[in-house]
Amino acid sequence: MSLNITPERLRAYLEDRLSETEAATIEKELRANPELRELLEVVRNRSVNAGHSLGAVWQRERLTCPTREQLNSYLRELLEDDYQAYVHFHLFKIGCPYCVANLEDLQELQAEPAQSEQRRDRIFESSVGILRENKS
Ligand SMILES: [Zn+2]
Repeated sequence: MSLNITPERLRAYLEDRLSETEAATIEKELRANPELRELLEVVRNRSVNAGHSLGAVWQRERLTCPTREQLNSYLRELLEDDYQAYVHFHLFKIGCPYCVANLEDLQELQAEPAQSEQRRDRIFESSVGILRENKS
């Protein structure tokens, strides 16, 4: 059986650019073929790293992504109830790969507080010069 499913088609699938029939074919193949699921993960990660193009797609689809700060607040349950629910929906019902990756990154930072503080100090130190220049 030769699969006519290329990374490019998987990307189109992830970005919701395929017809329903095509998407259904790919979903069927994904269920039957673990290798294809691996490939999908690779393509998904690549899309997340590409960030911008995928972000543009979500915007076109009018799915508004929360900012990283909002995701952080979501993790700590600091958002207003409605927005908390929206972010939850966005992450786990829509499954926005961009935000899910962002959330995972934030969770990792939370899980390693010592390391993240080091990182923050480093960022702080490197931006002190810039801040001073801006203030004077
Ligand atoms: Zn998103």
